[in-house]
Amino acid sequence: TKFSDFGFAEPIAKAIAAEGYDSPTPIQAQAIPYALEGRDLLGIAQTGTGKTAAFALPILQAIATRPYKLTPKAPRVLVLAPTRELAAQIGESFKAYGRGLRLTVETIFGGVKDGPQKRRLHAGVDILIATPGRLLDLIDQNACRLDKVEFLVLDEADQMLDLGFIHALRRIVPMVPKDRQTLFFSATMPKQIKELVGKYLSEPAKVEV
Ligand code: AMP
Repeated sequence: TKFSDFGFAEPIAKAIAAEGYDSPTPIQAQAIPYALEGRDLLGIAQTGTGKTAAFALPILQAIATRPYKLTPKAPRVLVLAPTRELAAQIGESFKAYGRGLRLTVETIFGGVKDGPQKRRLHAGVDILIATPGRLLDLIDQNACRLDKVEFLVLDEADQMLDLGFIHALRRIVPMVPKDRQTLFFSATMPKQIKELVGKYLSEPAKVEV
């Protein structure tokens, strides 16, 4: 498989080349075609496999080619991640792959003041990457709405459960419209994760590396 097989829009293809990526990693080769078709996806993969690009590139392709409907500025993409470090990395990846697109990427996490995060959310965000606890805080303060989300990613879902975010997930996910595309990644598949997959994904394609 080559990146050119996926038919990415020119700005995204250029960004991939600028990153120095020659060919897709195995998770990318398997996951990207399903994601581009609009399928829900269960990816069983560890960090370091290139899973970030496996979800970020098809999402960018979809939102680049499908212009905004209705209320601008509420997030179209929500990525949930267990830690601020991972959230920040994912945010940097979206910025790098989306550099040729006019998109606003915002990363929110706990442990820092929420004022700047609230101001940036108010100014308008296309792609929101968040840790679950801080996201719930901001939702409870009416600083963030999820009713325009078209793409939901749960990254390192097993880590989110280990860090005690299950209750936050159970509150957040139902706020996202049902007619979304959901991309779910976990390194392991314990029973609780299988339950979440059953509840949150619709006829998912499964890829494992
Ligand atoms: P991840 O597993 O998403 O954290 O990615 C691990 C590392 O692999 C990151 O530094 C990416 O920039 C890099 N990477 C992702 N996809 C590719 C690719 N197709 N070719 C080379 N490096 C890649």
